[in-house]
Amino acid sequence: MRICRLDNLDITLEKKGATRFDKVTYPIRYGRYHEIKSPEYLFEFNLNGEIKFIRGLKEGWLHPAEWIKRTDANDWVYYSTGAYNEVISFLGEYYRPCLPYPSNSPWQYDPLGGPEVEKALRAWSELQTKLRTVKQNGLPAPVVNALTAIAESDSKALAARSGQLRQIIGAPVSVLPPDCRHIDYEAIPLMIADGCLYQCGFCCIKTRQRFHPRSRENILGQIGRLKKFYGANLKNYNALFLGNHDALAAGGEIICMAAEEAWRVFDFQSAYIDNPTLFMFGSADSLLKADFGLFEALNRLPYYTYINIGLESADADTLLQLGKPLTPRKIKAAFETMIAVNRSCHKIEITANFLLGGSLPAAHLDALTGLIRDRFEKPYSKGAVYLSPFGTEKDKDRLLATFLELKNLSRLPVYIYLIQRLWAADDKV
Ligand code: SF4
Repeated sequence: MRICRLDNLDITLEKKGATRFDKVTYPIRYGRYHEIKSPEYLFEFNLNGEIKFIRGLKEGWLHPAEWIKRTDANDWVYYSTGAYNEVISFLGEYYRPCLPYPSNSPWQYDPLGGPEVEKALRAWSELQTKLRTVKQNGLPAPVVNALTAIAESDSKALAARSGQLRQIIGAPVSVLPPDCRHIDYEAIPLMIADGCLYQCGFCCIKTRQRFHPRSRENILGQIGRLKKFYGANLKNYNALFLGNHDALAAGGEIICMAAEEAWRVFDFQSAYIDNPTLFMFGSADSLLKADFGLFEALNRLPYYTYINIGLESADADTLLQLGKPLTPRKIKAAFETMIAVNRSCHKIEITANFLLGGSLPAAHLDALTGLIRDRFEKPYSKGAVYLSPFGTEKDKDRLLATFLELKNLSRLPVYIYLIQRLWAADDKV
């Protein structure tokens, strides 16, 4: 770690943050990062000099414990404390992300469009101008190099970097698994398959491609290019998202090959953050088709693996209304498989998504209650159920009240699924 002062700026390079993701009620930072403190703002940069977080330090900033974060897709997200109790009950986290794009959020708070955030972003741009012009005589070469990288990584350069990342993986990531909340969505995306099995009528994130796995060469090519892309900042990652909408359907051989190669090439063993994690989506069919050998193989990988399955509903009329071509019988069988795997594989956690919305048939809630309460004789902490707000434009208070009723009834952990993405399918690259 190097500390120096330049004009009215306190600069700390390679500052050490926490080494494992945690759920806390204050602005925690992970891994290693550069920090520049001006009288008004705290700016935090990744090891490539790219802005990551900005937090206001003076009166006039929205809240002393809130900040904005830039994602690898170059979106700014505002981290709101909301009311701590409320946020932790609904999301399982102490911060509620306010997103800059349309999502399924039942909350309407939008500080990103406000003057405080605009001012903070202007301050970052002014900082870059200052770093380009201020005399850096006498500063050691590593400090000058880091400050040059910070000054050069302006909004145009960062937009181009985001486009590069998307080109490397060759697909949009219009939704990340809800389990990524455990690592604040800091996963390296690696596409092992495109498309999905069902093309459900209600779904607004699908790519309209029929499912097909990527070749070994394609996956290895992505891994090599991703390593170069992340560069000096690679050591701040210890998590992998195997995309896209149904990576589980790609089968054990491809999944394990991709996870093992990524582990080796990205050298996750030496990451600045412990507890490596693997994330992917699956479907009812890919879960039912997977033999137990696949889960045993995943259980042997050096990651803790989360597999998120979109089940949506166990009621026939609701599935019909949603245009999801599955039967309640299959949904229930997939739910049972989820429970069986969660009980027998200590390093795998399968979670499930269901929809929640006033426009769905009443029988949907009865069927859901049958699964998350009546099915169990006692509470279980493994295998969360995420309820995705559906049709949130109407009666959000009623939706949140229904959520709390279900949460009280459930014998599995239940949270709201707030859809977060990297890039939408129609984003220009
Ligand atoms: S809900 Fe899942 S399976 Fe259905 S269309 Fe969307 S991505 Fe595909």
